[in-house]
Amino acid sequence: MNRTFASANVLFFSIRIRRMKNKNGLRTAHLFLSLSLLTAFLASCQPAAATPDTNVALTAAFETAVAQISQNNQPTETPVPADTPIPTATAPRTPPALPGTYQTSLLKPADMPRTYVADTCQYLKNKWDSTKSAPGTVVMVIMYHGINKGDASGNDVTTGEHKKIMNDLFESGFQAITMQQMADFMYDNAKIPPRSVLLIVDDRHFAEYFNDHWRPFYEQWGWHVINGYIGIDERTDLWAENAALSAEGWVDYQAHGYIHNVPISEGSTDEFITSEMQGAINSLQKYMNKTPIAYIWPGGGFSRRAVEIGPTLGYKLGFTVNQRGPVMYNWVPQADSVNDDNPLAIPEVPAGNPLMTLPRYWSPNARGEIDTVRNIGDEATAYAEQNKATELEYYDIVCAPTLGPIP
Ligand SMILES: [Zn+2]
Repeated sequence: MNRTFASANVLFFSIRIRRMKNKNGLRTAHLFLSLSLLTAFLASCQPAAATPDTNVALTAAFETAVAQISQNNQPTETPVPADTPIPTATAPRTPPALPGTYQTSLLKPADMPRTYVADTCQYLKNKWDSTKSAPGTVVMVIMYHGINKGDASGNDVTTGEHKKIMNDLFESGFQAITMQQMADFMYDNAKIPPRSVLLIVDDRHFAEYFNDHWRPFYEQWGWHVINGYIGIDERTDLWAENAALSAEGWVDYQAHGYIHNVPISEGSTDEFITSEMQGAINSLQKYMNKTPIAYIWPGGGFSRRAVEIGPTLGYKLGFTVNQRGPVMYNWVPQADSVNDDNPLAIPEVPAGNPLMTLPRYWSPNARGEIDTVRNIGDEATAYAEQNKATELEYYDIVCAPTLGPIP
C-alpha cells in the first residue's frame, strides 16, 4: 500500500485534533482517544495478508474524522455521539518484506554469514541509530602467537612482518579496539571506528614481548592489544609483570583456559568445562583484579555445552581459531559442517551461539586479508543504504509503536 498516504492521514489527524482541543474541550478529547487508538492499531500490526482496499478503508476513516471535526467547528452544539464508531481498519498498513542478510562472494561459500539478534525491531533500531556504528562497520579479529626477532615458523610472524601488518592496517584506515568495545558493538552496535581491528595475542608472554612489539603502537596510535592469558596458578613472577601491564590499561587480559593444554571438545564433561572457564576467571580476578568478558578457546576447541555454559559464567564473547572472515553487528560468518573450504575448522553453527564462536584471522595471513575486510565493509555499507528506506518503513509500521522513533 501507499505508506506516504497513510502517514499523511495520521499526521493530519493529530494536527487537526490538537487545534480542536483548544476550542472544544472534552468532546475533542474523546475524538483524540478514538483516533489515537486507530493510529496505534494501524501502526502496530504485524505482517499480514495484504488486503487490496487499504486506501479505501483509510480514506473512509480519514473522511469520517474530518467530518467530525468540521461538525465540531460549527457554532451549533450538535453533540457528537459518544459511541461514534471509527470505521474498522480492516486493512492495516502492510509492512514491506525485509531484505535478506548481506551475502558476499568475498567469503568462502561454506562460511555463511549468520545473524544472532532474535528481535528484528531491536536490530533495526540499533542498526539505524545515528549515535551507533554505521552499517558496514567491520571488525577484523587477528590471532597472534609469537613475534620472532629471527625467522618465523608455524603460527608466528617475524618482527618485520608484524610491523608491516600494523602499518598496513593503519594505512587502510583501521583502528584497534578493546574487548569491551567489541562486546558493546556486537551486542548493541555501539559506536566503534568503521574499520576496527581486534588484536588478540594468545598464551603467556613476558612483559618484554608487549613492550617490544605492542607498546610502540599504543604510544603512536593508542592501540590496545588483548592477551588471552592462561589461568593456571604458576609462575607468580610472570603473573606479576603481566599484572603491572594490565594495571597500565593498554594490555587487555582476557581468559584462555585454566590448564589450557587440553582443548574442550564435544566429549568434555561439564565439570571440566567449568573448571577451565571459571578457573580462568578466578585467576584473573586474583592476580589482576579483573573479570574477563571474553573466552579465547584454547587450541580452538569448543563444544555446544561449553558455548552454553560460558555465558552463565559471565562471558559475553568467545573466539575460535577459525579463519572465516571479519564480523559485523548481527553478522558472523560460520559453517554448518566440516567442509573442504576450511577442513580443519570446527563448525560453529551446531554450537548454537555465534557470539561465543567468533572467527579470527591468523597473523601470518592477516596482511593478505585486509583488502577483503575493507571490501566486505564497503559492500555491506552499500547494501544497507540500498535497503534503508524499506527497513525504516518496516520499523515505522511494526516497531515504532513499541520501541519509539529511531534516534
Ligand atoms: Zn593457547
